[in-house]
Amino acid sequence: MERSISAPTGSYSIMAAMDPRLMHLEWLCFDLDNTLYPLSNGLWKVIDDRIQAYVAKVLHVPLDEARRIQKQYWRQYGTTLAGLMAEHGIEPGPYLAYVHDFDISPFMGPNPRLRALLKALPHRKLIFTNASSEHAHNVLHVLGVEDCFDYVIGVEEVGYIPKPDPRAYEQCQAKTGVIPTQSMFIDDLPENLKPAKALGMVTALVSQRKRAHFDFVDFYLTRIEDLAELFGIDLDRIAGSR
Ligand SMILES: [Mg+2]
Repeated sequence: MERSISAPTGSYSIMAAMDPRLMHLEWLCFDLDNTLYPLSNGLWKVIDDRIQAYVAKVLHVPLDEARRIQKQYWRQYGTTLAGLMAEHGIEPGPYLAYVHDFDISPFMGPNPRLRALLKALPHRKLIFTNASSEHAHNVLHVLGVEDCFDYVIGVEEVGYIPKPDPRAYEQCQAKTGVIPTQSMFIDDLPENLKPAKALGMVTALVSQRKRAHFDFVDFYLTRIEDLAELFGIDLDRIAGSR
């Protein structure tokens, strides 16, 4: 289904002044963890500990050694999983099942403002995450925004190749038909935005930390809801009315 966003009517009637650098966009590509919700909610600590436990189990090493290996692979390969696969031939399926096999609902709840924002943005939307798509669906479900996305691309959908490997972006493109020059890419890790920029995407970094400047980052957001201002959306008004 074609959904044109070129006409300043319809969905854009709720918009005031949109940044002109965003006028041509048809697609919004979102990272998941620490982008759609803050990892400071404690969820990452649980995932991090489960990864550590899994590394200890499959490599038969003590927990402190497992933590060291976990972090080394994360730096070297982009994810701990990619390192375990490359160095030890570990099967990705059981790893992802174990790491994400817990109830995430104590760590987050519905975000009606995010939902209102996503519903107001007429673009096609996709999630592109280094986590599993099952984890992504769980998070989107708890946030109450699962129906706001056209595609959910987890690491298993892109051959277990994590961002920022350019091959991951190629696979994502092949799976979704996303057109890079008509897309915005939103992530909390600067290194994931670099390949996106190289493909011709507009890039936005979500970060609460004091930021460095990157020549491949077009927009800096403190939290995902800041997108509203960029697109000229009065979030207070629309979130209050839904
Ligand atoms: Mg992230």
